[in-house]
Amino acid sequence: MRVGAHVSIAGGVDNAVERQLDVGGNCGQIFTHSPQVWRDPDIDDGEAERFRAGTRERLDGPWVIHSSYLVNLCTPKDDLRAKSVDSMQKEVDAAAQLGVEYVNVHLGAHTGAGTERGLANAASALDELDVPDGVTVLVESDAGSGTKLGGDFEHLATVLEASDQDLDVCLDTAHAFAAGYDLSTATGVENAVREFDDVIGLDRLKCVHLNDSKHACGTNKDEHAHIGEGLIGEEGMRAIVNYPDLRDVPLVLETPNEDGKGFAWNIERVRELREN
Ligand SMILES: [Zn+2]
Ligand SMILES: [Zn+2]
Repeated sequence: MRVGAHVSIAGGVDNAVERQLDVGGNCGQIFTHSPQVWRDPDIDDGEAERFRAGTRERLDGPWVIHSSYLVNLCTPKDDLRAKSVDSMQKEVDAAAQLGVEYVNVHLGAHTGAGTERGLANAASALDELDVPDGVTVLVESDAGSGTKLGGDFEHLATVLEASDQDLDVCLDTAHAFAAGYDLSTATGVENAVREFDDVIGLDRLKCVHLNDSKHACGTNKDEHAHIGEGLIGEEGMRAIVNYPDLRDVPLVLETPNEDGKGFAWNIERVRELREN
């Protein structure tokens, strides 16, 4: 199975390979810079080459670049939109430099413009990108707090349909649960996956952010928990990691580092839940 974690690039992006191996992962995710500020990726060619070689020789992949949290594709504000598009362009260019297949982005918040307008803004913002060959932008399912879009599978489908880019989707299990898809039982997982397939199409699902949730289904609250220890719980997690249509999808963990449990513990837990 392909399972890994969101690891740090501190000290150089090539260090992410060793960090991934240290926690027992064989694929994973990185930020190219601090996600809380507007900053450009700054990766020299030596680091990039070492990252590519390390990935080729020691991991299965894929890698995902998670874009900045400041990016808001749905925004009605011109300056924020321009900054968001510029930031995303730099992420897809960094992905090409690193040989990374996917750049993951949240749609963002419409901040009063309305759902329809917000989704149209997101699609047209994505259309402004010049995405290099070999790189695909993934729109991530959201917890749907406030005016953030992407909580409903329909939102993601609307953007995929309206955009001229070849977009695919990343399903975050904690976000989907918070947005109202009950993944805590085998039946709930079955229903959610079937709905995803009907609305979006499972062929568009390229990554699962596998996270448990500290908050109940439908609360729109986004706080990740250790695998099997949140409100999705062990039954739900077991159903997700063994669901036939999800078995080949790369799983990337964004679980907390607390209670003495980090990524290594959580990845091991996923491997234990997986049945052969
Ligand atoms: Zn995310
Ligand atoms: Zn996520």
